[in-house]
Amino acid sequence: MARSRGYRPKAAVRAEIVALRARLSELHEYEWQKANMIMENITSLLGHSGGPSGGHIAPRACRYCRYYGHTKQWCPKRERDLAIGEERQRDKLLEEDRKYFASVTACVDPELKYLADYWTELSVRAAELDLDEAAHVEWYAANSKTHGLTTAEKREWARGQLERPKTCPDQSDDGSTA
Ligand SMILES: [Zn+2]
Repeated sequence: MARSRGYRPKAAVRAEIVALRARLSELHEYEWQKANMIMENITSLLGHSGGPSGGHIAPRACRYCRYYGHTKQWCPKRERDLAIGEERQRDKLLEEDRKYFASVTACVDPELKYLADYWTELSVRAAELDLDEAAHVEWYAANSKTHGLTTAEKREWARGQLERPKTCPDQSDDGSTA
């Protein structure tokens, strides 16, 4: 039943439209008959009823959640789903970072420590033996050989210098295992 806007104050009309829109937004697509009736009330309150086009405007349900009252662009369910998706994505990335740093710490640090220990040992030997020729040459060579090398190259070099149990898989610079 079409209602006339007539003499009713604007604020009351507005409040009624807001209430109708709230009811509309609680309807699912399968309740299209109720939705149509509510939409008819809204259009008549807006003064569109009975025009040349008949004034009937079919309400359209959201293409995402299938509820009336909003479009996919403003869909609250879609917003929530996207936020949850982003959160999961973020958690996944953080977890990958954590694993990566853990593997790097586990493998690289001991290797760099071996390298540092080797240098220390050589320099201590050189000092103790009062610049023992061989130790001094070796220490100097170790420093000059590894000067300017990348971490991976130093690691590779140290590997060739040291006898030690291998506890970690070979790692390239980007952390992937060979
Ligand atoms: Zn929706």
